[in-house]
Amino acid sequence: MTFTSIASSSHGNCYVLYDSQTKLLLECGISIKRIRRHVDLSNVRACLLSHEHKDHSKAVREILKSGVPVYASQGTADALDCSLISPVAHLGQFQIGSLDVIPFNVFHDAAEPLGYLVHSRLDEDRLVFATDTVNLNYRFPGVNLLALECNYSAQLLAQCKKLPDKLRKRISNTHMEINTLCNYLQALDLSSCRSVYLLHLSRAASSAGDFVRRVRFSLPPGVEVIACEE
Ligand SMILES: [Zn+2]
Repeated sequence: MTFTSIASSSHGNCYVLYDSQTKLLLECGISIKRIRRHVDLSNVRACLLSHEHKDHSKAVREILKSGVPVYASQGTADALDCSLISPVAHLGQFQIGSLDVIPFNVFHDAAEPLGYLVHSRLDEDRLVFATDTVNLNYRFPGVNLLALECNYSAQLLAQCKKLPDKLRKRISNTHMEINTLCNYLQALDLSSCRSVYLLHLSRAASSAGDFVRRVRFSLPPGVEVIACEE
């Protein structure tokens, strides 16, 4: 499978995942115009949504209108007041073309946020996608690609005097800190992992170069680390 980022920040998130037969959008938190500039929606089989926040769901109605089914939790569908979303649930596996998808719960200040494990039956790749979550508590054996939030560093966040205290507290209670991610990665068996994509870096409290170095240090040699920046 191939994973690419169209947009990755608190201003908008949208990613493309595909094998030789099936193409998915992960999130649609940018304008439909911008999405269409990067992908031909007539080739997209479905869109997976993690949660209702605008920077992940902005184009949901236009995506549905264009005939692409959208999958999300019932809580996300309700929060978006969108009955056309196909509801999926924690650990309820489903298929989209050649891809098997397993949603799993994540931890964020949203109605019912999900991450997704996607397995291609064609190339046998497994990808974990999880963003906007303060932590992760699943191990995902045999994973080949990881696309995970790497939002901020506690040190840089503390130095962000321009951010109001309330926002700073919200970030640390709802988003993934670099050390949390590194500790999580160190506890995984990543012997089959090829690439780690760092998602949703905070503009105010992250440093892409430093994050890539620290994540690389937490991984077996040879795994590539890519910071998805806009
Ligand atoms: Zn969010």
